[in-house]
Amino acid sequence: MTTTSDATTITSEAGTPAGLRTAGSTTGLSRADRATREEILYYCRESVRTGLNFNTQGNISVRLPGAHDGADAIVITPSDVRYDAMSGDDMVVVGLDGTVLEGDLLPSTELPVHLEHYRRRPDVQAIVHTESTFVNVLGALGRRIDPVLLNMVLYAKGPVEVMPFEFSTNADFGRRSAELMGDDVDAVVWGNHGLLAVGTSLKLAFKVAVAVEENAEVLLRASAAGTPKVLVYADIDVPEGARLP
Ligand SMILES: [Zn+2]
Repeated sequence: MTTTSDATTITSEAGTPAGLRTAGSTTGLSRADRATREEILYYCRESVRTGLNFNTQGNISVRLPGAHDGADAIVITPSDVRYDAMSGDDMVVVGLDGTVLEGDLLPSTELPVHLEHYRRRPDVQAIVHTESTFVNVLGALGRRIDPVLLNMVLYAKGPVEVMPFEFSTNADFGRRSAELMGDDVDAVVWGNHGLLAVGTSLKLAFKVAVAVEENAEVLLRASAAGTPKVLVYADIDVPEGARLP
């Protein structure tokens, strides 16, 4: 789902998104610091620049530990704002229970999906949703993305499964998405739509999205020429002290 026009139509028809509660006026104490907001904005624009998203597709969120009266919250991109016109102040802060804590705009329509992924995996600190071409080629075929490149196996940590198409704006979809991703792999494909990548930081979640797209293209081309060698994360011996590329 895009963050813009079509998604917005769904949101505005429904009014406040289902399950969303508003905390009212904020205290003036920002739960999301400036650097986090600017980092999200940077990666939104990077996602378009690097071809992971077209137009205003996709969305990004980051976990804010303890920001909601001691419980976690997230900061997420708004719905219906062009990336080139977006500012850090447009980000929306939402408690993991769905309470909107800060922000004048509606959060991404895929907020319930992000929340379910954060609830399932306490290790997940950031989520990047993209709609890149080769991920979507394999997703449209319902074909699992096996790791054939080092970056893919290091960052995504395993084969990325494909969910059959359905609208991705509700918590049920989010729970199934998180379940299919599981606890050991850091991405899942939504068939006929795009990718959801997670990480222990936004920088890493973005690297996962890049790695899966690059891998999807090589897998597709290599499969057309022969049978590519598939890498298995558990079999990769990362040399001691070696850093992720
Ligand atoms: Zn989307």
